Amino acid sequence: MSAHLETAGIYVHVPFCLTRCGYCDFNAYAGLDHLASRYVGALLSEAELAAPAWEGVEVVSVFLGGGTPTTLEVADLKALLARVRSVFAVTPDAEVTIEANPDTVDEQKLAGLLEAGYGRLSMGAQSFDRSVLAALERVHQPASVIEAFRAARAVGYDNVNLDLIYGAAGETLESWERTLRETIALAPSHISAYGLTIEPATALGRQVARGDVPAPDPDLQADMFEAACCLLGDAGYGHYEVSNWARPGYECRHNLGYWERRPYVGLGAGAHGYRDGSRSWNVRPPEEYLSMIERGELPVGGSENLEPADAYLEEVFLRLRILQGIPASWVDDGRADPYLETGLLIRDDGHLVPTERGMLLLNELVLGLTG
Ligand code: SF4
Repeated sequence: MSAHLETAGIYVHVPFCLTRCGYCDFNAYAGLDHLASRYVGALLSEAELAAPAWEGVEVVSVFLGGGTPTTLEVADLKALLARVRSVFAVTPDAEVTIEANPDTVDEQKLAGLLEAGYGRLSMGAQSFDRSVLAALERVHQPASVIEAFRAARAVGYDNVNLDLIYGAAGETLESWERTLRETIALAPSHISAYGLTIEPATALGRQVARGDVPAPDPDLQADMFEAACCLLGDAGYGHYEVSNWARPGYECRHNLGYWERRPYVGLGAGAHGYRDGSRSWNVRPPEEYLSMIERGELPVGGSENLEPADAYLEEVFLRLRILQGIPASWVDDGRADPYLETGLLIRDDGHLVPTERGMLLLNELVLGLTG
């Protein structure tokens, strides 16, 4: 057994949302709220069905994502975490995160979540510019993010992430810098900033394909990434993964587990799991997931074993993403030289580590190094 197998994370997927955002290709649905209590029951059952295979493995993080997990009732979320803790070996100090949409939480709900054991809150802010939120088809307004954030602080949340997205149609560099400054002014412990990507099978993807909406401009997105690096760095946030910044000690343990290729359990419709070089995933449609669980079956949709060459590529990519770098000996002589000369890579203690410019060109870097 490798050292990596000693600890694991648990991801729980909740596929319900208030509305469907135009850019989103997650397994998320608006208008399925009538399934919520059946779904919670199914998650409780799946935790029990899945746990025996993970006996003896310490769980150091639990992450409720979606979708919008905070569409569920606090009592259900409490029961869910209690079940996960009772059937898996969750450590007492495990990081427990719940994703929230600002419109689904108020002080009372947040206090209930904190009391239930969800110690880390990850909120989808996306932008503080109304027109950018409209371009993303987000239902909330900038004021609701500020209100929800202050409510979280008021009830005692110390560990709060804000998610941001840059590069939507009409967003300028100035607007993005304002969003960054407003985010910094709230002083969250963690900030994720993702460049908008257009997925073909989404409403936005279809609008872009028809030419109704322009695709994100890669040069502008590169400038926006650099602005994030500068402003967040100056404000004391450490850049520990391509799209993630944190105050020291607030790096997301759960997500680091994915990037460090630690095993994780996936519970819920479409959730993925990983263990021993093998990935598996649950069936995606919530109704199909419910039927399988209600028949007493594990709702497995498929699995794959990573070929050694793919596993190597993935490891290089992930290690570069989190600035862990790769041992210089992994790369053939001379391959890294052009990237060292152009400042995309640096040498650190026998490792090749990307600079922030290198992070921006990560795909190129990985291809060039592994070729
Ligand atoms: S709230 Fe999040 S998961 Fe739900 S539709 Fe919007 S982007 Fe997707």
